[in-house]
Amino acid sequence: MNGAPHVAPAQISPEFSARALYDEPMSKHTSWHAGGPADVFFTPRDTLDLASFLRQLPAAVPTLWIGLGSNLLVRDGGVRGAVVSLHGALGTLERLSATRIQAQAGVPCARIARQCVKWGLGSAEFFAGIPGTLGGALAMNAGAWDGETWRQVVEVEVIDRRGARRVRTPADYEIGYRHVRGPDDEWFIAARMEFERKPGSNDTAIRDLLERRKQTQPIGEWSCGSVFTNPPGQHAARLIESAGLKGFRIGDASVSLKHANFIINHGAARAADIEALIAHVQRTVADFHHVELATEVRIVGEPEDSP
Ligand SMILES: Cc1cc2nc3c(=O)[nH]c(=O)nc-3n(C[C@H](O)[C@H](O)[C@H](O)COP(=O)(O)OP(=O)(O)OC[C@H]3O[C@@H](n4cnc5c(N)ncnc54)[C@H](O)[C@@H]3O)c2cc1C
Repeated sequence: MNGAPHVAPAQISPEFSARALYDEPMSKHTSWHAGGPADVFFTPRDTLDLASFLRQLPAAVPTLWIGLGSNLLVRDGGVRGAVVSLHGALGTLERLSATRIQAQAGVPCARIARQCVKWGLGSAEFFAGIPGTLGGALAMNAGAWDGETWRQVVEVEVIDRRGARRVRTPADYEIGYRHVRGPDDEWFIAARMEFERKPGSNDTAIRDLLERRKQTQPIGEWSCGSVFTNPPGQHAARLIESAGLKGFRIGDASVSLKHANFIINHGAARAADIEALIAHVQRTVADFHHVELATEVRIVGEPEDSP
């Protein structure tokens, strides 16, 4: 989106005004609580509303899709174009057969985990620890413990920039560890997923897994989870910790003392502080271990001083 012009309210059709916010601070929509304003921030009523919004949006206006903003660093200059938010939208979750479910992209992952337990379905417990939407989990191939989003996917429904919908299968995507690559300019609106039957299941496994997470991660503080992906055969957290970076601080952002792959915003960090800290960690780990750390978090938007 670099250098893209601002989008004026007049470029959005009046029928969407009630659900569009202008100059909306992205710090309100990201788990790091950092980030400048989006020109337009739109939450659709349903899929038809979403399709009409995309159709009327001038083709030159870029779109950024977000769920719960739990893996997103938005720079302080904000987002030029339209942000499409599925938080609180597209929230239908239903059972299609004994082992198959369908969820829209705005459904929080934790809800999928809990509902699958109620339905007596197993292998969905890992979703409980992912504080995002299904849409974000599909985009990231989010995973935890031994589970991974795309291992469960049978089909996804996507929508393109002109509002046209279609169904795709995993074969249409390149899928790896925290990596998904598919056709350009398409976004997830729903998925059908297959789980195994686990009659009599209860939420003990979920509670145990969340408890274990609380022991090892700074849950409740402002973060984006793991900032870096694990290099093959290594642990990013161990590399960062052994390079002496735990507690290293820039502005109001620091490397967590509890889990070195987390960066915490202590309250007043700007996106620029967090981005500078990310770069510092990468440089230090490269010098110390000769390993290049790649970010798992997605960094988007404009720096503060852009027009
Ligand atoms: C405390 C904490 C713990 C975490 N633990 C884990 C973990 O164990 N495992 C793990 O994998 N992640 C973890 N995360 C990271 C994050 O929760 C996941 O990556 C999650 O899947 C992101 O979902 P989201 O809805 O918040 O996506 P966002 O952060 O809003 O977006 C992430 C990316 O997905 C894209 N996107 C969002 N919605 C759509 C859509 N509908 N269609 C296409 N693209 C879309 C966005 O454009 C962006 O590129 C953790 C985060 C936190 C804060």
